[in-house]
Amino acid sequence: MDNEASIRLLQDMLEIYSPSGKEQKLANFLKDEIANLGFENVRTDDAGNIYGEIGSGSPSILLCGHMDTVAGWIPIKREEDLLYGRGAVDAKSSLAAMISASQTLKPIRKTGKVIVAGVVEEESTANGIRQLLRENLDVNYAIFGEPSGVKNITFAYKGRVSLKIKFQTTSGHIGAQHLLDNAVEKAFELWNEIKTELNDKWSQNGIFDSVTTCLVKIRSQRTSGGVPDVCFLDFDLRLPPYVTTDQSIKAVRDVFTKYKEKNPNVSISHHVVDRIEPFMADKNTLLMKALERAILETVGEPFKFLKKTGTGDMNIFGAEVKVPVATYGPGDSSLSHTENERIKLSEYLTSIQVYKRAIEHLFSWHKHA
Ligand SMILES: [Zn+2]
Repeated sequence: MDNEASIRLLQDMLEIYSPSGKEQKLANFLKDEIANLGFENVRTDDAGNIYGEIGSGSPSILLCGHMDTVAGWIPIKREEDLLYGRGAVDAKSSLAAMISASQTLKPIRKTGKVIVAGVVEEESTANGIRQLLRENLDVNYAIFGEPSGVKNITFAYKGRVSLKIKFQTTSGHIGAQHLLDNAVEKAFELWNEIKTELNDKWSQNGIFDSVTTCLVKIRSQRTSGGVPDVCFLDFDLRLPPYVTTDQSIKAVRDVFTKYKEKNPNVSISHHVVDRIEPFMADKNTLLMKALERAILETVGEPFKFLKKTGTGDMNIFGAEVKVPVATYGPGDSSLSHTENERIKLSEYLTSIQVYKRAIEHLFSWHKHA
């Protein structure tokens, strides 16, 4: 593919709006597209992920990008070196660059295999990557396509726990409010205790190494004319690599226990909605070396390792499949999920060269390792 064809591919992908759960149209488009580009074994799975392969033999590398974006249409606009659109950064430019790079690797054929995967629901349920794991792909390496900027490699992501609490007090007439516990106020009191406890326990130098807490929703119920006696709290914890999801959930439960000792009239139940372990990739692998070399050769500057405060599909894959992994892709991640999402086309084109060279180095070094 020449540069114009690669830009056209990205622009076409941006034109197809694909918020999480609505990736089907983009998946159909990409399936046809990669089949036309000469990918083999083009297929979908039960979650709606798409796959295509270039080359054969070993080693094999998975290039995994996500097809979904957050919601919010942004009109496609090209202004000189900039291309605007939802997903321009997070992360259609990475997936388009992976496809472009693999396609130009066609001559390698028998010296190794590239499997490109476009997965669904990275921004929501992570169902796509979970299904990909069930497909048992036979791979020796994996790169995830998320915006790191062309000079950087993301090696670490925080973990995440989403919890829902149901907080209950005794109901009663609002005229007797001086006698009753208001569930909303008491639940908020509990929330502050959770926050303080987790901050005290796990707050280190810098946000990446601290547990952070975010209350995302409060909803209350009351019988008519009554003081609120039920309150639901939804919250989100972000975990550094040294705190497991189990440890953080236990810490929250310990706060409940102490709180109930002081407030015997309340009842608290909770439900873990979702959890993703924090992840740190090994920095000392052939895959990292191949990316480092490719960045140096293409960009002309040494790379940097990045740690991210979000979570990515690499967390889920890396926890289960013990092969070298990395996250790399074009774009300024501070523009992700914003109304201003745009990619520098020159950067996008550079990233194609980086993926391509990294794979070439990796395949040739793998043989001699
Ligand atoms: Zn993303």
